[in-house]
Order: sequence, then structure tokens, then C-alpha cells
Amino acid sequence: MAAHTSRNMSPSRNVSGSSVLDGNVLAGPLAELFAFDVTTARERCASCGDVEALASAIVYSSPMGWVVRCPTCEDVLMVMVRTAGRYSLTARGMTWLRVDR
Ligand SMILES: [Zn+2]
Repeated sequence: MAAHTSRNMSPSRNVSGSSVLDGNVLAGPLAELFAFDVTTARERCASCGDVEALASAIVYSSPMGWVVRCPTCEDVLMVMVRTAGRYSLTARGMTWLRVDR
């Protein structure tokens, strides 16, 4: 379900020429970004700095979801919880997630 909760932001331009819009403008780029096998993306561990494909991570799986740990230092990279009709994800243990297109 898309949010589409526009706050009637009218586009404005700052000195650098970039536009200031609400988050609805991200629908297209994010759909393109995540329309593939995300486990092929590379992540950087915020704890040790190791860079690996997400598929290389150590995953603890339970009926409620998954805890994803760095294969090098074993700190938590990401937690994904599944409840009725909803996924919640936090990735505070990653500095970034890189997708090569
Ligand atoms: Zn690590």
C-alpha cells in the first residue's frame, strides 16, 4: 500500500538548483532499486568496516523474522521482523548498502 500522503508541498528550488519535494517522488527510483535479488547487494558493516555481499551474512531465522550478522565481526547488520501483513526492517548496523546496476 503506497502512502501517497502528499502534504501539498510545492516544489521549491534552493541555491544549488535542486528541488525540494515530499517522499512520493521516491516511488519510481526505489521501485527500480529494489526490483532485483537484494542479497546480491553489497553492504558495509558499521562496526568493522567489512564489505560483503548480503548473501555472505550470517542469518538467524525464527518464525518472527531474521537477525542478520556480519560474517567477519558478527555484529548485527540488520533485523527484519514479519508480522501479519507487515515487514519491519532496521539496518542500523550497515554504513551503506550498494546496488550495482
Ligand atoms: Zn563487521
